[in-house]
Amino acid sequence: MGVKDNILTIQQEISSLCARIGRKLSEITLLAVIKEAEIAQVKVAIDAGIADIGENKVQEALIKYNRLNTQYACLPTRQAIPNTLKWHMIGHLQTNKVKDAVKIFDLIHSVDSLHLTQELDKQAKKINKVQDILIEVNTSGEKTKFGLKPDETIEVIKKTAEFKNVNIKGLMTIAPIVDNPENTRPYFRMLKELKDKINNLTNEQLTILSMGMSHDYKVAIEEGATIVRIGSAIFK
Ligand SMILES: *Cc1c(COP(=O)(O)O)cnc(C)c1O
Repeated sequence: MGVKDNILTIQQEISSLCARIGRKLSEITLLAVIKEAEIAQVKVAIDAGIADIGENKVQEALIKYNRLNTQYACLPTRQAIPNTLKWHMIGHLQTNKVKDAVKIFDLIHSVDSLHLTQELDKQAKKINKVQDILIEVNTSGEKTKFGLKPDETIEVIKKTAEFKNVNIKGLMTIAPIVDNPENTRPYFRMLKELKDKINNLTNEQLTILSMGMSHDYKVAIEEGATIVRIGSAIFK
């Protein structure tokens, strides 16, 4: 199957799942993760209606943005990349990449320290932007994973709330790799509960839960995901 069929299949899966569990389809964003995709495939995805794309690396996103622009500009009709397309940063963000990141990303999912929110505030301010971010939480406690510990999250969010040029929209997590997707459920549930707790204990109104990938997105949607990040199931 090609990229377009893969997207249609996933959209249908999400749609019937929403109907079954009583969630609105409009609450869920299908984010296409392009880190392993060819540019031609990314264009197929966009032309099939994908409005949100995600990359792990700032430099890769810049390169792909330029290549995509060339693809569209070379068409006989000389189109541009749809300007409604949203770019998401989902990989670990290094401080020295923040300056470029705030220029290109609509939403940065992988913010995991006060130091980083401070730098994001500083660089966003320089370009008169309020940068939307998510706080990455290490719900499984695995040492190999980035993200704040759940009990550190509130403190970082409270302090970040004082920064005028960053806006915390929600939380993000990556579940452990397991054979049975059902076993990811506790981590997604933990993230949802943490979001509710933060909304109760602070002035924040977090709305986004970025959780679920190719293998486990259905469980994540059952547990309240509003963005699912899907790579291999689209571009395999
Ligand atoms: C690669 C990646 C994804 C997509 O993973 P798939 O299993 O290919 O769907 C989602 N989120 C993050 C943070 C990733 O690095």
